[in-house]
Amino acid sequence: MSNDIVSFMEKVRAKNPAEKEFHQAVEEVAESVMPYIRQNPRYQKARVLERMVEPERVILFRVPWVDDSGEVQVNRGFRIEMSSAIGPYKGGLRFHPSVNLGILKFLAFEQVFKNSLTTLPMGGGKGGSDFDPKGKSDNEVMRFCQSFMSELFRHIGPNTDVPAGDIGVGAREIGFLFGQYKKLRNEFTGVLTGKGLNWGGSLIRPEATGYGATYMAQEMLQLKGEAMEGKVCAVSGSGNVAQYTVEKVTKLGGKCVTLSDSSGSIYDPGGIDAEKLAFVFELKNVKRGRIKEYADKFKCEYREGKRPWDIKCDCAFPSATQNEISAEDAKTLVKNGCTLISEGANMPTEPAGIEVFLENKILYAPGKAANAGGVAVSGLEMAQNGMHLNWSREEVDQRLQGIMKSIHETCVEYGKDGDSVNYVNGANIGGFVKVADAMLDQGIV
Ligand code: NDP
Repeated sequence: MSNDIVSFMEKVRAKNPAEKEFHQAVEEVAESVMPYIRQNPRYQKARVLERMVEPERVILFRVPWVDDSGEVQVNRGFRIEMSSAIGPYKGGLRFHPSVNLGILKFLAFEQVFKNSLTTLPMGGGKGGSDFDPKGKSDNEVMRFCQSFMSELFRHIGPNTDVPAGDIGVGAREIGFLFGQYKKLRNEFTGVLTGKGLNWGGSLIRPEATGYGATYMAQEMLQLKGEAMEGKVCAVSGSGNVAQYTVEKVTKLGGKCVTLSDSSGSIYDPGGIDAEKLAFVFELKNVKRGRIKEYADKFKCEYREGKRPWDIKCDCAFPSATQNEISAEDAKTLVKNGCTLISEGANMPTEPAGIEVFLENKILYAPGKAANAGGVAVSGLEMAQNGMHLNWSREEVDQRLQGIMKSIHETCVEYGKDGDSVNYVNGANIGGFVKVADAMLDQGIV
């Protein structure tokens, strides 16, 4: 690592102690972008990267609520408004007990680059709470969401900050949040994305992240003269992103053989076909059960406490959470013949794992490029809300495919490395340039 990156990172660590995921996300970007900044001193002079690692605003608030047994519970709420250089803050809300400031700052930082790559006018933000929806009744989730929005509503708006879902925040939670916002503001606006279809949502939004990660994989394969047809794929997670990744990969002729949750993974060598996937949708989105029940139902292997990465596959789609692929996992994937990774999750690969993929010239698309389809369709939802009309499924899907194609092209443009493509550099530099140029145009603010 060169001296300027070392001293830059020392300052970031000193200023943001105990935020290890944030340090990790910033360091990955700095390694790609600092050499580019050296060649383009106007960014250096305006201290663009130093400004980008400082959130424009951090909001931290108390979220008190009453559980079903009448006990008062207290959670912490956050919204990180990271950058509004190219549009209103935009990024999801995560409800998970692991949520803390460092995790949300890493996600908000990544979001700035990702949103820039989509070609749409969206700044970057992220928020959430350490609330755990698992095991809570619908009424408890509703009371929590109402309390959360009772503070958040004063900081967001359709032209200011537009949150969406993330881990633990799906259609149910967005509904409760939107209901409370509407009541407090007395206005019906596109202040959240991921809304229900009959009250302002966009077709293809639920599918967008998983479909997008698959389209990205398809683009990478096409550049190599290959296709998804016949590829054996390992998918982690079993939530929104994992479900629609399996759906699209299967549609394109690939075979997904794994899924997981925080308790373990399943291995189904026969492939997760449409009928089995319908079971997963019901299990995870309605019954809110554990993935083990898939193995019980379809008589396949359940691997308690294990991730899917030792299963032999051609392509891997990490779609659960951050740092779920270690260097060891990466080595195992490569050893077993995996040649493509498309990250549905945010930062699922540890830095040493990324090194393994890059050294082995694997087709490796980092989350900020591969999973940008979700926020892209959120941007399309905002556009439809602004026009007060709805596009058809085909129209949204076509736009999503166009956006993923354009993200791939940007990665190739900025990441070309001899006869291969370094998608990490491509995504980081490609995402950086648009935001940095907007910051130069807008002065020191
Ligand atoms: P969901 O809540 O729908 O699903 C998350 C899945 O990951 C669940 O199967 C969950 O298992 C598993 N998981 C969560 N935390 C952990 C953990 N610490 N260890 C192991 N497994 C875990 O979330 P999404 O599918 O929406 O999000 C998945 C990833 O994709 C996240 O990284 C998110 O930031 C990213 N992403 C999502 C987008 C979207 O549009 N939804 C957009 C872009 C990125 P369990 O049920 O046991 O908790």
